[in-house]
Amino acid sequence: MLNVAIIGSGPAGYYTAEGLLKSFGDGVRIDIIDRLPTPFGLIRAGVAPDHQSIKAVSRRFEATSLAANVRFVGNLAVGDGVTIEELLGLYHAVVIATGAPADRKLGVPGEDLPGVVGSAAFVGWYNGHPDFADLAPPLDAESVAIVGNGNVALDVARILAKTADELAGSDITAHAAEALARSRVRDIHIIGRRGPHQVGFTPKELGEMGELQRAVPVIEPADFPPAVADAALDPGLRKVVGFLREFAGRPPRRDAKVRVHFHFFAKPIAVEGDGRVERLRLERTALTQDGQAIGTGDTYAIPCGMVVPCIGYRTSPIPGVPYDAALGRFANADGRIAPGLYCVGWARRGPTGTIGTNRPDGFMIAEEIAADGIEGDREGPAGLDRLVAERDLYVVTFRDWQKIDAAEVARARAGAPREKFVRVDEMIAHSRT
Ligand code: NAP
Repeated sequence: MLNVAIIGSGPAGYYTAEGLLKSFGDGVRIDIIDRLPTPFGLIRAGVAPDHQSIKAVSRRFEATSLAANVRFVGNLAVGDGVTIEELLGLYHAVVIATGAPADRKLGVPGEDLPGVVGSAAFVGWYNGHPDFADLAPPLDAESVAIVGNGNVALDVARILAKTADELAGSDITAHAAEALARSRVRDIHIIGRRGPHQVGFTPKELGEMGELQRAVPVIEPADFPPAVADAALDPGLRKVVGFLREFAGRPPRRDAKVRVHFHFFAKPIAVEGDGRVERLRLERTALTQDGQAIGTGDTYAIPCGMVVPCIGYRTSPIPGVPYDAALGRFANADGRIAPGLYCVGWARRGPTGTIGTNRPDGFMIAEEIAADGIEGDREGPAGLDRLVAERDLYVVTFRDWQKIDAAEVARARAGAPREKFVRVDEMIAHSRT
C-alpha cells in the first residue's frame, strides 16, 4: 500500500490526488493536508467571487475527497503542527501543493507606504481568506492604480468597478461588499510596463471590462502598433488586442461614473506620498528588440490613494525544504525535490496558467511517484492520527468541512451562493456542530 501526503488542498493538490487514484486505484492512501479548515485553496480564496462557474470545479474535487482512500486533513499547518521530516517518515511520498500565496514586491521606493496593498492581500480580503479579514483597504480614495497586465489585475479592477447590484450573485464576503458599496473609487488605472501586444489578459476576462454597468474602459489609441501587426499574434492574444482596440475606438463617455484607464508602456519607479500613498510615479518605456521594457527617462505621476501591485506571486518557504529564492518557488527538477519529496502546480513551476493547467501537472507527479517505486513500510494516515492525538491538535475532516459549507450556504444573502466565514475560530465552531 502506497501512502501519500499532499500538502495543500487547491487545484494542484486535488489533481495530484486524482492522478494517484488513476495510477494506483485502491493501492494508495492519500491525506490532503491544509493549514486552513476549508479545502480548495485558490478556488475558494483566489478565483474571483463573480466567477462562480470557474469555482464549480470544486465539485469534482469533492468527489475525490469522498473516495474511501482519500482524507482531507484541515487546520493542520506543516512546519508548525507537524514537520516535513515527520511526514517523510510517515508517508512514501510527500507532495507540496501549496501554491504561491505571497505577493512579489515591486522593488521601488515607497512601496511600504500605507495604501500599497498587494493582490494576494486584496483578493484574499474580498474572497474571505482569514489572513486578510482585517485588511481595510483605503477605498476612500477616488483614484486607484493597479500594476500589471495579467488576469489578476483585471479581477481587481472589475471588483472595484462593479456596482453592488453586479456583485449580488457572487460570494464576495459581506465585509468587502459593504466596503465596496461605500467606495469612492472613480478612476481605476491599470498600468502595463509593455504594450497591448504583450498583455497577459485572456479574452473572456478582458471582454467583461467592456460590459460593466457603470464603468467604461479608456485607452489611448496611439499606444497600438499598426493593426496589420495583429495578424502575427496567436488567436487568443489577437482576440484580446481586438477588444483593446474596440475599447480605444469607443466614443468617450463623460457621464460614466467609473473609468478604467489602461496605461501602456509605463513602469512604476516610486510610490510617493506623505505618510500614505498619494501618487504612483511612472517612467515611460520603450521595447527592446526582444520585447523587454526599458525606461526612457520620461516620467509622470498618477494621483492615487491606493496602489495594488498585481505582478505575480511567490511560494512561501517551508522549513527543511530547499527553496529557490530567485524564482520564488521550491528548488526542483520536474517536480522532484528530494527522494520521496515532490512539488506540483505553482509551488513547482511558478504562478502561471489556469486552474486546468494543474491537471497535467498533478498527473505527471503521480506518474513520477509510480516510476520512483515504493520502498519500505510507512504508517501513513494512522501515523498522522497518532501525532495529532499526541499533540492534542484539532483537525478538520471532509465531513466537518461539509458542516462549515452547509452553514455558509444557509446564511448566504438572497441571491448569493454562500456567505463565507472569515475567522478560523468560526469555521472550527461550525465544524463541531
Ligand atoms: P501574470 O499574467 O503573469 O501578469 C503579471 C503582470 O505583471 C504582467 O503584465 C507583468 O508584466 C507585470 N509585472 C511583473 N513584474 C512587474 C514589475 N516589476 N513592474 C510592472 N509590471 C510587472 O500574472 P497574474 O495576473 O498574477 O496571474 C497569474 C496566473 O493566474 C496567470 O496565468 C493568469 O492568467 C491566471 N489567472 C487566471 C484567471 C482567469 O482565468 N479568470 C484569473 C486570475 C488569474 P510583463 O509581462 O512585462 O512581465
